[in-house]
Parts: sequence; C-alpha cells; structure tokens
Amino acid sequence: MTSSKGSRIRVLDESTVTRIAAGEVVERPASVVKELCENAIDAGAGTIRVSLVSRGGRVTSIQVSDDGCGMDPGDAPLAFARYATSKICGIDDLPSCTTLGFRGEALASIASVAHVTLVTKSRDGGGISGTRIVNRGGEILSQGETGCPSGTVITVEELFFNTPAREKFQKPPAAEAALISGIIERLAIAHPETSFEFIHNNRRVLSVPGKGDLMDAIMHLYGLSVARQMIRVQGGGQRVRMDGYISNPSLTRKNQYQMYISVNKRSISSRLLAGAIRDAYGTLLPAGRYPVVFLDLTIATPEVDVNVHPTKREVRVSREEEVREEIVSVIRESLAGECLIPAADSGQNALPGTGDPVRLQYGVPEETGSGVREPLLRERIATGRQ
Ligand code: ADP
Ligand code: MG
Repeated sequence: MTSSKGSRIRVLDESTVTRIAAGEVVERPASVVKELCENAIDAGAGTIRVSLVSRGGRVTSIQVSDDGCGMDPGDAPLAFARYATSKICGIDDLPSCTTLGFRGEALASIASVAHVTLVTKSRDGGGISGTRIVNRGGEILSQGETGCPSGTVITVEELFFNTPAREKFQKPPAAEAALISGIIERLAIAHPETSFEFIHNNRRVLSVPGKGDLMDAIMHLYGLSVARQMIRVQGGGQRVRMDGYISNPSLTRKNQYQMYISVNKRSISSRLLAGAIRDAYGTLLPAGRYPVVFLDLTIATPEVDVNVHPTKREVRVSREEEVREEIVSVIRESLAGECLIPAADSGQNALPGTGDPVRLQYGVPEETGSGVREPLLRERIATGRQ
C-alpha cells in the first residue's frame, strides 16, 4: 500500500465526481471507524489506536489516532471538503490506485453529522506545531496551531446530533463495539504490518502487535486452536497471486464469516472468490460448511474495479473464469501438500479417502487462550511439520 505521503489534497473535478460511485458512507459508529482507520493505513501508519467511549447506552466519542504522514496546515481544512482527496487527481488515476480511499468524501460525510476535532502534524513538514480544527455539522468552528506529535488524531462526538432519525436506529454500544472489533480484525488481517489497538471505556478489547507476520496476527486475534489448523498458501498464476492461510478441513464454519479475503490488501466480500475457495476443497468439506481463510490476493490493479459500491466492500474482477481457475488450483495444491488430497489427482473430482489422505496432527499443547505466542509452534504451523 502506498501512502498518500502528505501530497496536496485537491477537490476532484465534476466529471470524476459523477463517476466515482459516491454515496453516503456513515451509517453508524462502526462505519466511522472503518473510514478513519482506512485513512490512517493510507497515511502509512505503523500504529493505529481506536478508542470508543459510551455512556447511558449511547456511543459518546470515537477516536482514531495514527502515526502516519499527517497533514500540513494548508491541507488540513481541505480534508473536510467534499470530494477532496490527495489520493487521485482524476478518474484516469483509478486503474492504478492502490490506496483504500480515493473519493474524498468520508471526512466530509462524518463532519456533516457530528462534532469532529482533527489534530494533525505532517511527518515531513518540519514545523514544531501541528494543526487543530474543530468542525461541527460540516462547518469549521475553529482552526489553530497546537503542539502534537506527527500523525493524526480524529475525535468524533455527538454523532448524528443533527439527524435524529439515524440516531434512533443505533444499536447498543456493546453491539457497536462488536462490529468495530470485526472491522479492525479484517483490517489487521489484511495489514499485518500495522499495529492495532481497540479500547472501549478504558478496557482493551483487542490488540495486534503489527509485526508484519500474518500468523502472528492470527494467533493474537483467534488463538492457538485456530492457528494450529492453518495451512500455508502461497502461489498463483498469470492472473492472481495468493498469500496467506486456509484451514485444515477439520476446522469449518457454518457460514462465510471467517473467510477473510482481501484483494490487493483491501478487505472485500466476494461471492466469486469465496465460492472458488470453497469449491477447491470439494468434498473435503461437509455440505453447507465453509473453511476459515486468511488470504490476500494480488491482482493487477487495472483488472480490479473497486469503484462498484460506496463502501468499497465489493470489487469486480475481470477475466473471472481465469482467476477462479487459478484460485482453485493453488488451494488444491496447498491441500495436496498437506496430504489431504492425493497429489496425483488434483482434479475437481478427487475424493478424500481415495488416496489414503493423512490428517495432520500437530504435537502442540492445548490452547491456553488468545494472545499466547509460541515461536516453535508457529514455525511448525508455517512449515506444516509434524
Ligand atoms: P479519501 O480517503 O477518499 O481521500 P477522506 O475524506 O477520507 O477521503 O479524506 C480526505 C483526505 O484527507 C485524504 O485524501 C487525505 O489526504 C487526508 N487525510 C484524512 N485522514 C488522514 C490521516 N489519518 N492522515 C493523513 N491524511 C489524512
Ligand atoms: Mg478515506
């Protein structure tokens, strides 16, 4: 992921705006967190901290801080302008765009329905002071210098203060915190090099160290019992390269909720890609069950259309059939490498049992809880050694 590196924010021209599938992205606190975290990742942050405060059954404050590139005093107010972005100059840049954001509307949308305080300092601006801007309902109330470390802190309070209908539909804070955890998990899996921490009312809900090792992130988030049932996947063809882990068929879920798939490090939901992975297991999986998957697919950016939906959770891939075939083939090779599928027959019709498959048995201690790390175990899992 390339960061926006403090490049100047510009307002997109009219014809680009009409073609970027723009739309409202702020439905709830969790969508605010998603947008702010994505901005932090685009800013090249190594550490992202999310803090949620709730009182009296309502979310009262959402804060996201990062140590990314920050903004200089000239750029900071523009970040609140609608369709203002530093990530693309026009629609022609979209095919090569590698950042998570590009529409320049998230901060404008959030500020239009909340009280937002932005504190930011450019990493390479050289100045000693940063900028503090207060925006309420889309209007800048104050702007001035402030002392702060480089990076960005955005605090969102009184969300939906001017849209009572939307306020009424908010879920209780505990449900919102669960949604936020899910969003951070997805981001952490797609960006294992970034450290995430999520605090709710001074209680740490989640923490991922961001050491750049996906297995480390999996162990922190899901514990040893999931981690030890993972099979390494690395490979690809002309259209797609795959990197990550898939579960041994002994670990399944009743739906796709733990199929974490990202395309070019953008966490997405795709029936096509999830279906291809599921199909590759063939009859190794019981009917109606799904594997646990942590996979990043690298596909040439011009072949991926991210401009399908305002939340960018869906993408469209060109040459779908070829991509699908390559995915099936890499997954089947990985399963065959673990002796779960007879290596000689990696065709779609191979049945478990026909080639004396051996289920892996890792000689590891029982799970002692999430957050436990054991380098030896990780090594075994990564190499698939017994
Ligand atoms: P987009 O991400 O689509 O560009 P946003 O409204 O989310 O639109 O953000 C507008 C601009 O503000 C970004 O393009 C970026 O230049 C700047 N910005 C927002 N958040 C951050 C951040 N955490 N660090 C640095 N710059 C940021
Ligand atoms: Mg954004």
